[in-house]
Amino acid sequence: MSVFDALVGQPMAAHELAVAVWDAELVLDGQAGPAMTHAWLFVGPPGSGRSVAARAFAQALQCKNGGCGTCQDCLDVVNHTHPDVVITEPIGVHYGVEDVREIVAQASGAPLRGRWRVFILEDADRLESQQMDWKPANVLLKAIEEPAPHTVWILCAPSLQDVIPTIKSRCRVVSLRTPTVQEVTDVLITKYDADPTLAATAARLSQGHIGQARRYIRDEDMRARHLAVMNLPSSLVTLDACISAAANFVEGAEEHMKGATKGRDSAEREDVRQVYGVGARGIEVRGASKALSDLEKTQKKRARRVRSDAVDLALLDLLAFYRDVLMVQWGADVGLINSEFEDQLREAAASSTPEVTMRRLEEVLRTREVLSGNAVPKMVLEALFATLKDPVAVR
Ligand SMILES: [Zn+2]
Repeated sequence: MSVFDALVGQPMAAHELAVAVWDAELVLDGQAGPAMTHAWLFVGPPGSGRSVAARAFAQALQCKNGGCGTCQDCLDVVNHTHPDVVITEPIGVHYGVEDVREIVAQASGAPLRGRWRVFILEDADRLESQQMDWKPANVLLKAIEEPAPHTVWILCAPSLQDVIPTIKSRCRVVSLRTPTVQEVTDVLITKYDADPTLAATAARLSQGHIGQARRYIRDEDMRARHLAVMNLPSSLVTLDACISAAANFVEGAEEHMKGATKGRDSAEREDVRQVYGVGARGIEVRGASKALSDLEKTQKKRARRVRSDAVDLALLDLLAFYRDVLMVQWGADVGLINSEFEDQLREAAASSTPEVTMRRLEEVLRTREVLSGNAVPKMVLEALFATLKDPVAVR
C-alpha cells in the first residue's frame, strides 16, 4: 500500500510525487535529486484533493519506506502529531501577516526527527489581500526564496491565477483534476462503505468534490439545506417571499456555523482556562482574561468564515440548479446534476426562456463575487432573490 493510493483519479500527480520522494531520499544522502524541490504549489479545483495530496506527500517524505501509510511517521502526519509537519489554514477570510510570520519563524529550524520540515499552507489563494498590500504573501515569499535546508513548502490553491506571480514562479506546480462522478462514487462505496444509491447521488451533487460528497452522506442537515435550495426558485413569487427567503438563507448558514464551531470553541476555551488555572470559583488569574479575549476574537473570525462558506455553498447549489434548468431548456443530452429534483427543474424550465436562465446564472455568479468582499449577506441576498424573481425588469 502507498499513501498515494488516496489520490482519487490523479495518476499523473501521484507519479510525479512518487518520483520526487525517490529523489528526496538522494538529497538526504547528500546527492543530487532533481525531481525534488523545496517549494511546491498544488493546484486543483475544490474537491480535487489538494489537501489529501499535500498530506500524502508529507507522509511519503517523512516515511522511511516512501509512504507506507502504516509506520509511526505516516500515522503521526495523519493525526497532526508529527513534529516536522505543520499544516495551516487562514483563520479568517485571509491569512494575517502575524500568522504567516509565525509559520515562517518555525520554518527556520532544523527537522526534529532528522528528515524534512514540511509546511502545508491550505488556501494559499487567501494569502493576498489588497487592503494589506499583500504583506502576508511577501513575508512568505522571502521564506521561500531563502529556504532553510530540508524545509519543504507545500502551498495549495484552486488555480494558478489565484496565486501571486512572484510566489508561483518559485514553486513547482502539481496540477490536480476533478475526479469523475464514477470515481467518486466508487471511492465512497469501497472506502467509506456508503450505500450505492446514496453514493451515486452524493457524487453527482458534489460534482466530483470528495470531501463534500462524504459530508453529504454523513450529514442530514446538509441534505436538508440542499433540498431547501432546490425549492427556493419556485418560492420567489412576491417581494416578501424574497425577503424571507434571504432571511432563511442567512439563518441556515448561521445554524450550520453554530453546529460546526460550538464543540471546538468550548474545547479551546477550556484549554485556556486550564493553562491559566482559572478555577470553578472564577478567580481572575493574571493574563487569563487577555488570553480569553484574544481567543474570542480568533473564534469570531473563524465563525465568520464558516458562515460565509456555507452561504457560498448554497449559492453553488443554486448555480447547479439553473445550470440544469438551462440544459433542460436547450434539450441538451447531458446528465442533470440534480436529477432527483426533475419536477422543480422542469417547472422552472417551462416558465422561463434560456436567456432568462442565463441572466439568473450571471446574477448568482455576481452575488458570489460581491459576497467575497465585506458586503452584508442578507441585503445582497435580498437583492439577488428579487432579481431572480424578475430578471428582466431589474436590468
Ligand atoms: Zn510510513
